[in-house]
Amino acid sequence: MKEQLYTIPLNDAVNAGDECPFCFIERSVEQDLLDFVLGSSASYMEADIREQTDKAGFCRTHFKKMFEYGNTLGNGWILKTHYRRMISEMKKEFASFHPGKTSLMDRLKKNTDGGNAIGVWIREKEKSCYICKQFNETYERYMDTFFYLWKQDSDFREKVKNSKGFCLSHFGDLCEASEPRMNDSEKKEFYAVMLPLMEKNMERLSEDVAWLVEKFDYVNKDADWKNSKDAVQRGMQKLKGGYPADGPFKPGK
Ligand SMILES: [Zn+2]
Ligand SMILES: [Zn+2]
Repeated sequence: MKEQLYTIPLNDAVNAGDECPFCFIERSVEQDLLDFVLGSSASYMEADIREQTDKAGFCRTHFKKMFEYGNTLGNGWILKTHYRRMISEMKKEFASFHPGKTSLMDRLKKNTDGGNAIGVWIREKEKSCYICKQFNETYERYMDTFFYLWKQDSDFREKVKNSKGFCLSHFGDLCEASEPRMNDSEKKEFYAVMLPLMEKNMERLSEDVAWLVEKFDYVNKDADWKNSKDAVQRGMQKLKGGYPADGPFKPGK
C-alpha cells in the first residue's frame, strides 16, 4: 500500500525530536533531490530527465542550492539545454507581444491579473522548478501518511502529542491537508490536541529566546544557558520553517 512506503521516514522524523518533523522531512527529501539531480548517478545525462528539467527549470532558491552543491559540469549540462528551451519560448512570447495597444478592457484587466503578458510569462517561469515540483508531490504523500497514521496508529498519535509540535509554516500545511482527509469528529479530536500543542511549544520557544537575551546581561554571565544556546535558529525555524544554521549541502554529506 502506497501510504506505508513512507511510514518509516515519517516515524523517524517524529522520533528525531526536532522543532518540526516536516522541516526534517523537507530537508531530507530536498537533499535526496539534489543528489538525484546533480549527484554521481548523473541523471542529467539521461534524456528523459533533461527533458523534464529543460521544461520546468529551477527556482532561485534551488539554483542557489545547486550551485552550492558544486557539480560544475552537471550544472553546465542542465543549463545548456534549458537555455535553448527558454530562448525558444521567449521568442514565442515576444512575437505575440503587442506593446502600446492597450485597450480600455486591457487596462481594466491589468488591475486584476497583473496585466503585462511578458511579465506574466516570466513570473510563471520564476515559480516553475523541477525540484519544487518533485518535492511537492512527495510532500502530499507525507500528508496522506500523517493522517493515515494519526487515524490508525495510537502509538504515533501519542508520539505526536508528546512532540515539540510543528513550525508554523508546516502547521498551516497540516491544517489545510486535514480538510479533505478527516471528518468533523476526527477534526474536533485533532484540533483538541494540536492547538494546545502549538501554543505550548510557541511559548517554549518564546521563553528560550527571552532567556538568550537575559543571558547576555552581565549579571547572568555564569548562569546556565538552559535551552537557549541555539534559540535563534530554532526560534526562526518555529516561525517560518527550515534550518537557518545549516551550511550548504554538498555531495556525500
Ligand atoms: Zn517545519
Ligand atoms: Zn525550487
